[in-house]
Amino acid sequence: MYLKTIELHGFKSFTDRTKLEFGPGVSVIVGPNGSGKSNIADAIRWVLGEQSARVLRGSKMEDIIFAGTKKRKPLGMAEVSLTLDNSDGLLPLDYNEVTVTRRTYRSGEGEYLINNSTCRLKDVQNLFADTGMGSDGFSIIPQGKVDEILNAKSEERRSIIEETAGIVKYRNRKKEAARK
Ligand code: ATP
Ligand code: MG
Repeated sequence: MYLKTIELHGFKSFTDRTKLEFGPGVSVIVGPNGSGKSNIADAIRWVLGEQSARVLRGSKMEDIIFAGTKKRKPLGMAEVSLTLDNSDGLLPLDYNEVTVTRRTYRSGEGEYLINNSTCRLKDVQNLFADTGMGSDGFSIIPQGKVDEILNAKSEERRSIIEETAGIVKYRNRKKEAARK
């Protein structure tokens, strides 16, 4: 599985619809300070279901929507889609390509979509559980994270190992079953 494209529209500094393409292997994003490199990492986290504005470097969720500049009016909606190559079948869906989309409006309303069908946040979380790419996964390692893992309490370290070992999915299912 690898990330093929990211499409952003109205997310932070990405006003116009912008499509970034990646190949398998290592890609590097370079650019001057303030050009939007970290915003791309924020966009990935956001689509994967991040609920904390602080993690996305804002103070409220609305901060991820393009706020306008001297020349351009603010936008009312942010939308980001990640398209993943799934030809190795790592994602438990019978498609060679999987597109996950998140959309949010200033009112706070929003939605998630998998391959253009509306779904729940939980469906997005389950899709990525145990792939290492979930919002709690380690596909994005922010500054300071390495120190955080080294300094983690034993329970926190346990959950990191569980995610890596691939048992989070079963724990989530057990929790859901217990609620029924
Ligand atoms: P550095 O090299 O300093 O880490 P960077 O390339 O990572 O820079 P980002 O942090 O991704 O830069 O982008 C910061 C820019 O995004 C700032 O110019 C900021 O004004 C802009 N920005 C953030 N949120 C919004 C928003 N909601 N609307 C418009 N612009 C925004
Ligand atoms: Mg940065």
